[in-house]
Amino acid sequence: MDQRPPRRYEPTRTGYRQPPPPARRSNPLTRLAVAMALTGGVMVGCFLLVYGFPWAQDTVRPVPVSAPTALPITAPPAPTPAPTPTPTPTPIPTPSPAPTPSIPLLVNKQNLLPNNYVPTNLVRLIDICPGNVVSIKGRDIEGNAAAVDALIVMLRAAMDDGIGNWQISAGYRSLRYQQRLLDDKVSELMRSNNLSRDRARTAALKTVAPPGASEHHTGLAFDITVPGVSFAGTKQAQWLAENSYRFGFIFRYQAHKEEITGFLAEAWHYRYVGVEAATVMKRNDWCLEEYVDFLMQN
Ligand SMILES: [Zn+2]
Repeated sequence: MDQRPPRRYEPTRTGYRQPPPPARRSNPLTRLAVAMALTGGVMVGCFLLVYGFPWAQDTVRPVPVSAPTALPITAPPAPTPAPTPTPTPTPIPTPSPAPTPSIPLLVNKQNLLPNNYVPTNLVRLIDICPGNVVSIKGRDIEGNAAAVDALIVMLRAAMDDGIGNWQISAGYRSLRYQQRLLDDKVSELMRSNNLSRDRARTAALKTVAPPGASEHHTGLAFDITVPGVSFAGTKQAQWLAENSYRFGFIFRYQAHKEEITGFLAEAWHYRYVGVEAATVMKRNDWCLEEYVDFLMQN
């Protein structure tokens, strides 16, 4: 069992000077001590190699520090591919916020304004419009300030083209005022045409918007007329139909769009939508409903 002696002697025979005696003495304990010393030495050596010398800690630290810093740098590239899939859903929500500022307010018999809707920035036309450009039929006619400004610029440009004698017959109409207009029209038709209230109301709604469906409620629509003259067919009507888009206004109710707008043609009713929208509608021969449909689908 005990085969230690041959092993001990083998190495010593290669040398000279009594190699056996020291081998015998160091039998179990010395070998263990030598092994421990060797392993200890190796460990210390490794420690010094890896961590450097304890008395030179300033140079030791940079080694472990540089290792962690390298990791975060290589790590970020991995998370970055994760965000890339998210951009694909984002294009879908973007159209919804866009409509609010860019799509003009659409008001018709299918799109009623809320009962409590009051436009912002209403101004009295009589206070702003120069009397030498346009006469205002009624001191209380109001409109959105930006729309009124554009209206004045437009009518001035018409005068530069030799087309004058303008009048504004209507602007902003409150919900209560719209209701009164409809009631008056129904009464008139009942009297003049001997109609029942229901029939008179149906007939009235072809020309008078039901409360909440009038563009005049927006403060962005005006009835532009010539005093004492039926407007349709005048040179003023023709000029507006051809040029109003350049100033942000649209010829809102045209004969060939009655099916879409739900209103009979009105040569005098102009709606402010801004130059960009008005230009697109003019070029494509779109009414506001068609333009809004186009924007919602794109
Ligand atoms: Zn009108």
